[in-house]
Amino acid sequence: METIRKVAIFKINEQNYIAFHFPTFTMLRVEEKNINAFKLLLEESSNDEEIAHNCNLEISYIKELKEQIPKEFYSEELFENDHQTQISQLTFLCSTNCNLRCKYCYAQDGSYEYPAENMPPETAEKTIEFFVDKYKNIASVLFFGGEALLNFEMIKAAVEKFKNLHLQGKISEIPRYSLISNGTLLNDEIIEYLSLNKFSLTISIDGNKIINDKLRIFPNGKGTFDVILNNILKIKKNYPNINIAWESTFTNVHESLGMTVEDVNNTLKEITGIEEGMIIPAIKSDHTNFEPNLKEVKKDLKKMFHDDWQNVYEGKRINDVDFLGTIVKFMDKSSSRYMCAMGFFLFSIAPNGDIFPCHMLTSGKKPDFFIGNINDDKDHLFSNIQKMSDKLKTYDKAKNSNCNNCFAAGFCGFCPAIHILENDFKVTEQYEDTCKLVQNQVKDFLFRMAEIRLDENKWNNLLKSVDISFTENTIVC
Ligand code: SF4
Ligand code: SF4
Repeated sequence: METIRKVAIFKINEQNYIAFHFPTFTMLRVEEKNINAFKLLLEESSNDEEIAHNCNLEISYIKELKEQIPKEFYSEELFENDHQTQISQLTFLCSTNCNLRCKYCYAQDGSYEYPAENMPPETAEKTIEFFVDKYKNIASVLFFGGEALLNFEMIKAAVEKFKNLHLQGKISEIPRYSLISNGTLLNDEIIEYLSLNKFSLTISIDGNKIINDKLRIFPNGKGTFDVILNNILKIKKNYPNINIAWESTFTNVHESLGMTVEDVNNTLKEITGIEEGMIIPAIKSDHTNFEPNLKEVKKDLKKMFHDDWQNVYEGKRINDVDFLGTIVKFMDKSSSRYMCAMGFFLFSIAPNGDIFPCHMLTSGKKPDFFIGNINDDKDHLFSNIQKMSDKLKTYDKAKNSNCNNCFAAGFCGFCPAIHILENDFKVTEQYEDTCKLVQNQVKDFLFRMAEIRLDENKWNNLLKSVDISFTENTIVC
């Protein structure tokens, strides 16, 4: 692979190269016989006559070739169209209380080392006012916990606040609402409300009854599987408009029972009848160690990724929401500036109004990522947000010199909080392994997309796959 300007050039087979302008996701096929002339044209260090002479080609041919190079290829700004002003996501930790005692919980039973308490509705309202005042629009709101549904009153107050702001013309759009819940408290009143207000719902469940009931338990030790599954099936049957997904934490207990990520994926799809889901490996914390063998997890995920490509080739539904997101991102040419927008345009709010970049960095005891409290002076709080963005600037690809010439930059989005947690709660610039992984994935993706683009049949199947797979965004962070 060679990079000229901001164009990465890959050989994809004996006859063809692809040239990929990574700031704008513009791709061009270049035939082997033209590649040297193409590179010289892109470099702009020789005139057409010199290029024709050096490549032993007619000058008229060089001029034709030049015409075919998209104008974007000469632009070297990595994120030139990025003028984000709106908040990508606010995460409300509605409650630091939880009605379950999941064994691997990295947040100390959902408390994040805060007292177990609910967020007062006024705190949510004040938070919304602050962010709307400073940033105008909020694209999405995630209600999380602890168990968020222990504080349904606050959720309703936040939704009402947004409705009023919209009616007053202070926000142009109502945010997309998502709720992550353990699925045990979903009564009819709550489900009806979620349906009316177009919530996306993610329910945690760890696999079949045997494994789930070993890990996700009530304080009395009883398993949660039956209650959760019953609620999922009820919603699916009676409220088909609720966009529902499952989320599973994969642990070393799964491994000890001989279960793979793929097994869990297949089991959950089968028992819930829901295709959209996410499997996340458990992370080590100060309190728990349920981390599985990450190498094996990666192998399994790779295999599942392969199956999804097969679905694309055959025009079938794409199951993995991240994979679907990558395709849509590529087709929409929407490259993203931040590895994650946490601390820039994504914030998490604890029940007492303390603000952090992300729920995973929220801690009542560790002040490292504490930004301020919603009751602080507004200008002071805003200036603290800017200080936090500066502290996290390594995750801003526009400011990270390693990313400047990386062909994967527009796609690259990994979870910085995991790196921070693994690095003793400190920002780290040591993530070369993640970079290699991301770059390999992006390279593979581009090769496949080029292959698909060159085959009319496969291209039509891809469009069909995206069409039937595209549901509202269920990716929560
Ligand atoms: S893969 Fe690494 S170098 Fe490339 S954009 Fe991502 S973080 Fe930056
Ligand atoms: S991707 Fe990671 S850092 Fe970003 S919001 Fe999600 S958990 Fe936090």
